[in-house]
Order: sequence, then C-alpha cells, then structure tokens
Amino acid sequence: MKRTITDIDVTGKRVLLRVDFNVPLDENGSITDDSRIRKELPTIKYLLAKRAKLIICSHLGRPEGQYKPNLSLLPVAQRLVDILPLTKIKFAADCIGEKTEEEAKNLKEGEILLLENLRFHAEEEKNDPIFAQKLASLAEIYVDDAFGTAHRKHASVYGVAKLLPNAVGLLMGKEINTILGALENPERPFTAILGGSKVSDKIYVVMNMLNKVDNLLIGGGMAYTFLKALGYNVGKSLVDDTKVELARNILAEAEKKYVNVILPIDHICAESLSPNARPKKVRGVNIPDSLMALDIGPKTTKLFAKTIKKSASVIWNGPMGVFEFNKFSKGTEKVAKAVAKVNGKTIVGGGDSIAAIRKLGLEDSVTHISTGGGASLKLLEGEVLPGVEVIENI
Ligand code: AMP
Repeated sequence: MKRTITDIDVTGKRVLLRVDFNVPLDENGSITDDSRIRKELPTIKYLLAKRAKLIICSHLGRPEGQYKPNLSLLPVAQRLVDILPLTKIKFAADCIGEKTEEEAKNLKEGEILLLENLRFHAEEEKNDPIFAQKLASLAEIYVDDAFGTAHRKHASVYGVAKLLPNAVGLLMGKEINTILGALENPERPFTAILGGSKVSDKIYVVMNMLNKVDNLLIGGGMAYTFLKALGYNVGKSLVDDTKVELARNILAEAEKKYVNVILPIDHICAESLSPNARPKKVRGVNIPDSLMALDIGPKTTKLFAKTIKKSASVIWNGPMGVFEFNKFSKGTEKVAKAVAKVNGKTIVGGGDSIAAIRKLGLEDSVTHISTGGGASLKLLEGEVLPGVEVIENI
C-alpha cells in the first residue's frame, strides 16, 4: 500500500501537490469541462483543513517546453477562485524561479499558490534534476494526485518525489490502493472481464491476469482474435492478425495455469458496422463469412453473468460489443448489471464500461470506478509506474 496524505503530518507544512488540471479549453481559452478540478477538491480541502500552505502544480496540453499563452493555467486559477470563494488563491506566473520561491515562502496557512504550466519548461518532461530541485525547494512535502501521469517519468512526477517526504493524494490513493490491493491479495474466485476493440492495447493485461485470476472472460472485438487462434470461423469480425499466434500461446498458458478462459459461444452480428445495420443472432461459435460479430450473444451473456455471480472480486475493462449503438449494447449492459450485483470488490475501468455503469445508474453498486485511462491499464499489466514506485509504502 502507498502512503497517502492521511498517513503523514501535513499540518501547517508547505505542500507541493501535483494534480491533473489538464482541462479542455475552447478557442477563447474558457474551460469547457471542469470535472478534473472538481475531482481534486477532496484532496485540496483535506490539506486546507490541515492548514497546509498549498502549492499546486500541473501540466496543461503540449506546449513543448515553450511559453504558450493559450495553454496558461490562469483560467484554472480563476475557476478555483469561483469554486473556493473563501480561500485565498494566488497564481505564480512561472512554476520555478526566484519570484515563485518568494511567493511560496510568503504563503500563509490555508492559502493556495497555483503554479503556471509545468510543461512551459522542457526540463519537466526530461526529468531534469536541476528543475526537479527547483520545484522541490518550494515545499517541505510532495503529494502526487495526478494518477493519469504516473506512467511518465517527469520531473514533477518522479524527480521531485525523490527529493521530499512524499505521499499520494486521496484521488490517486484510492485508484492505486484499490487496484493494487485487488491484484495482490484478491478475494477468490477472482474474475477479470476484458473487452473493447484493440487486442494490442490489452494483450499484456491478459498476460498479467493469467497469473492472478481464476476466471478470464473475453468479449468485445478483442475476443475474435482469440477465437480465430482456436481455429473458429470469425467471418468479417475484428481480428488483429499480428496477434493470433500470441493469442494461441496465451490460451495454452492459461490452460497450464488452470485459468478458466471463457470466450463468446454465440454472437449478435451484422453485415457491417453501421447504425442502420440489421442485427442477426448467430447461435454457435462459428460466424458466417458475410457477417461480423458486434455483441456477445444471449448464451454467452448468461454464461458470463453466471461466472460473475459466483465471483468474490471482479475487474472489468472494456465493452462486450459496439456499445455506442443500442442494438449492440445488451451484452455490455447485462455484464454491467451482473458486476454491480457482486458483493465483493468490483473495479470498473475504460470509457465504455464506465458509461454502461453510469447509464444504468449503478455507480454506487461498484467498489471503484477507475478513471486512470492508460495508467490504470499499465497497473493491470503489472507494470511498475515511475510515479507510483517513487512513493513510500506503508
Ligand atoms: P477500447 O477502446 O479498446 O476499450 O474499445 C472500445 C471500442 O470497442 C468501442 O468503441 C466499441 O464500439 C468497440 N467494440 C466493442 N466490441 C466490438 C466488436 N465486436 N467489433 C468492433 N468493435 C467493437
């Protein structure tokens, strides 16, 4: 488990908090969605309640090491002022340098200093040690709450964490401790459900899961590379021909490890991937040459749901079909409902799986919704993320 802010004494301390305020902006520089700022509020409010002197840093967009006025964090500072009207919030026009050091030193308990975009300095992405030192000199404690950048060895994620006593914030703490906890010490039977379109994105997750899970349910577009590997006819379904051999090896490995891999046994197909496509049920595993599978069929759905129901912990990432079209969304919705009914730990990640859970109003019925994107997939792959590795364990 990683040390979080509740494990350390931050009272009255100068805390450098790395967040993800990489918000979308329109052409006038206005924030179009402030959910990344709002998600950070629990950590910010916790630290302010402890009378910390809060120095917040983030990147925004890809300025490539140069000052770009349209990628300034000033609009974020203004939004923070709107959201936290009772807190004194200052904005530092540069994230390092003498003036910023002065501003950080003069910060009072319960005040915030938001630093300008870290990526205005090329040194940030190069994990430059002098730049990291300058950032570290602003504070006494470093807190990382930007899980989405934890797989990047940047100065504000890695270098600075090496130089100060460190911890993760509430957002990142929940994300990593829930996922790592589930992977390291799962309640059994432990089931992983993987779907979505790109086998190449998730093949390493499948490989890592073979060492962890009892059941592996594979649906969505990625299932057809595995079915092809087993010699079934997959028609016009999505297949990554470069991964068929690897898929075959993985299935052989799964057998050796006694992992129960379940692939679709029936399908909802169509002649093409279009909103007007007429769904056709294909009752067996083999798919006629003229069709492509766009959702798992009812027998598969039942089989998946039965396995999920018997599980004590579940990780789900990726839709079971082309969830965007109603007629191909049933498999995903039924899997969502089955996952929500599990009493044990349930972790849901990936845009479409999260959308399915939200559409059905089941957010409160799962343990954790993992919004970490690429970084969460890397954790599931068993990769050591620099921004996670560098934080002290407890
Ligand atoms: P990913 O980004 O890998 O999680 O994949 C999500 C995408 O997979 C969604 O846009 C789905 O429409 C797509 N998808 C799911 N199942 C299929 C399928 N059987 N054939 C083609 N695309 C699929």
